[in-house]
Amino acid sequence: MNVLIVSAHPDPASLTVALRDVAADQLRAAGHAVQVSDLYAMNWKAAVDRADFLHLTADEQMRPPVASMQAAAAGTLTRDVLDEQEKVLWADAVIFSFPLWWFSVPAILKGWIDRVWSSGFGYQNGGERYGAGRLAGKRAMVMVTIGGRESHYSDRGINGPIDDLLFPINHGMLYYPGFDVLPPYVVYRTDRMDEARFQETSREIRERMASLFTIAPIPFRPQAGGDYVDKLVELKEEIAATAPRGFAAHLDHRRT
Ligand code: FAD
Repeated sequence: MNVLIVSAHPDPASLTVALRDVAADQLRAAGHAVQVSDLYAMNWKAAVDRADFLHLTADEQMRPPVASMQAAAAGTLTRDVLDEQEKVLWADAVIFSFPLWWFSVPAILKGWIDRVWSSGFGYQNGGERYGAGRLAGKRAMVMVTIGGRESHYSDRGINGPIDDLLFPINHGMLYYPGFDVLPPYVVYRTDRMDEARFQETSREIRERMASLFTIAPIPFRPQAGGDYVDKLVELKEEIAATAPRGFAAHLDHRRT
């Protein structure tokens, strides 16, 4: 199978990159083909701006979704975006490796999503989204290193539950364009990493890589699965009545 790792850490000697390489080595040893998009090494341009839309005239208003749609239709998306889209289309699974920065992805990775998930690729796929869309049939997984302790991210933790913090990434950035999203692999309290823990973490990552194509995805509810009122796209009353409140309402554990 083909695996793309999108990697967002500025230092090749970091823990995050070392763990990314453990994953890549394991996948290659198992016979998978692996490509790595190392965003800092590529000097990835994170900001969406006029340079992305060569068809716009100098005084034309830039409406990013419209400009993105026009560029895709005219075949004028920039080469860096097209290269990344080709890698994603090549991949059967995409792994996102990054440190948690301000409770989210580093800006360079957000900028990769902003630009690579262009109109007709990440969104505006004829109404297909959340469990359908251009990237349906592919798997995606987050591998994240975190400074705080696991308890800070528990159900009662001050930072909020990790599944809630990752919901905009897993459900919004990944499930929306169609991926089957796998449970994340999270490394907490990274400043307390020592050799013994690194070896144990590496062992767990190798195990996760071995199950990349068999582990059950997070059981998000597909938009077209019958759980939502058609146009409003809110949960049907009878489902909402027994579902938990908040992000967890969009999980259906019977799908596990
Ligand atoms: P590194 O600093 O590279 O390494 C961490 C430790 O692992 C070091 O002790 C190092 O010696 C050891 N190590 C590295 N490589 C190896 C190896 N190969 N073998 C054995 N040991 C090794 N944290 C939060 O909890 N929530 C936040 O919202 C948050 N926001 C942040 C925002 C910013 C802008 C920044 C800079 C940090 C933030 N942090 C936050 C902390 C951040 O999540 C951690 O700094 C990050 O996870 C550490 O990963 P790293 O790869 O940079 O680790």
